[in-house]
Amino acid sequence: MNSPAKPPMKTTQETLAFLMEHAKRCASSQQLPTQQALGHILAEDLVSAVNVPTQDNSQMDGYAVRVADVQDELILPISQRIPAGHPGHPLAIGTVARIFTGAVIPEGADAVVMQEDCEVMGEGVRIKVKPKVGDYIRRQGEDLQIDRIALQSGTRLDAQHLGVAAAMGLTHLPVFRKVRVAAFFTGDELVMPGQSLQPGGIYNSNRDTLLALIRSFGCEVTDLGIVPDSLEATRQTLRQAAQDHDLIVTSGGVSVGEEDHIKPAVEAEGQLNLWQIAMKPGKPFAFGQVQRRGQDGHAWFMGLPGNPVASFVTFLIFARPFIHGLQGRTPTPLRSYVLRADFDWPRPDRRNEFLRVKVNEQGGLDLFPNQSSGVLTGAAWADGLLDNPPEQVIQRGDMVKYIPYSSFFN
Ligand code: AMP
Ligand code: MG
Repeated sequence: MNSPAKPPMKTTQETLAFLMEHAKRCASSQQLPTQQALGHILAEDLVSAVNVPTQDNSQMDGYAVRVADVQDELILPISQRIPAGHPGHPLAIGTVARIFTGAVIPEGADAVVMQEDCEVMGEGVRIKVKPKVGDYIRRQGEDLQIDRIALQSGTRLDAQHLGVAAAMGLTHLPVFRKVRVAAFFTGDELVMPGQSLQPGGIYNSNRDTLLALIRSFGCEVTDLGIVPDSLEATRQTLRQAAQDHDLIVTSGGVSVGEEDHIKPAVEAEGQLNLWQIAMKPGKPFAFGQVQRRGQDGHAWFMGLPGNPVASFVTFLIFARPFIHGLQGRTPTPLRSYVLRADFDWPRPDRRNEFLRVKVNEQGGLDLFPNQSSGVLTGAAWADGLLDNPPEQVIQRGDMVKYIPYSSFFN
């Protein structure tokens, strides 16, 4: 009897769409002091209670004038001096006010002339360049306007957003709590750096790569360490991980061999929603959920392949948008660029490939010579990934899709 045809593996794009259907915000919100809010996701729209600037002010060190008073060769007397933070009084007709950057424009003045365009003559000043109404005046509210949204809910708070919040006068910001991720690493061959390497052993490099990625995506992470290749140990660690975490990330043990226990363990402790993807590296990627014992709900599960490059690439491609969804962050498209390939790639795979490449001095892309998914030094040499469609031969000079690593951290 023929076995039923296996459904085709999902493509990268289908997988992303599938993940995003599940990536709903899991985090509650809290108020944090501005400096502690860095890297968090804003939980509410922030409406400004002030105008910035509060009043029209000068963009330059110079002289506040009434444009109608300025005529060639005329020397206008300086009637007052207005530093920033010390508002003056209405500008007397036929005079100018010495004014400094950030100082309030006096009533009656309608332009500022920068000092480089003026010549001081005793008690007065000759304006060498005829101003236009509005020159060098920053308008009240041109940066922040009262009752307008200044920062939108779902924004990841970077330094500049903290500055905007401070410009509004805020000391605390409403943010979602950080997404909690548990990570563990399967493989009897794994040894922690610092311990002695036995024949056939390998240092657990995925741990450091993945913990760093999880943190740099703004999550809290619990390291559950190395888990032996046994169904019972895998199930037990999954149960433990599901308790206090929103997402479980694992590496290894997700292929089809007898020593691969991730798939049956997730099926026993919850459900597997997706397994195997038409991408290279990264085919064995798995996604599902693990039930919480004695509580409602589940933790999401992402099983990454053991091969170090495959776990790195699948994390960047799939975990990034999924984590954004859990965080409540507004979706941010992954920026890619079209660049010239300065190499040949004559034997492409049937799957969507992500090649380790680097921009060269001519603005083209060089390819790391060994593209094996076990060669992590290639990922470290590279500065981005070339997203190559299935079966796409690349000839030197072809234009290709390049994703700089930096795009993943946007
Ligand atoms: P697996 O997916 O468990 O079959 O592992 C595939 C390959 O990745 C094997 O050569 C493993 O030794 C290697 N590998 C698995 N986990 C790790 C890890 N945490 N760090 C480095 N290499 C690993
Ligand atoms: Mg293994």
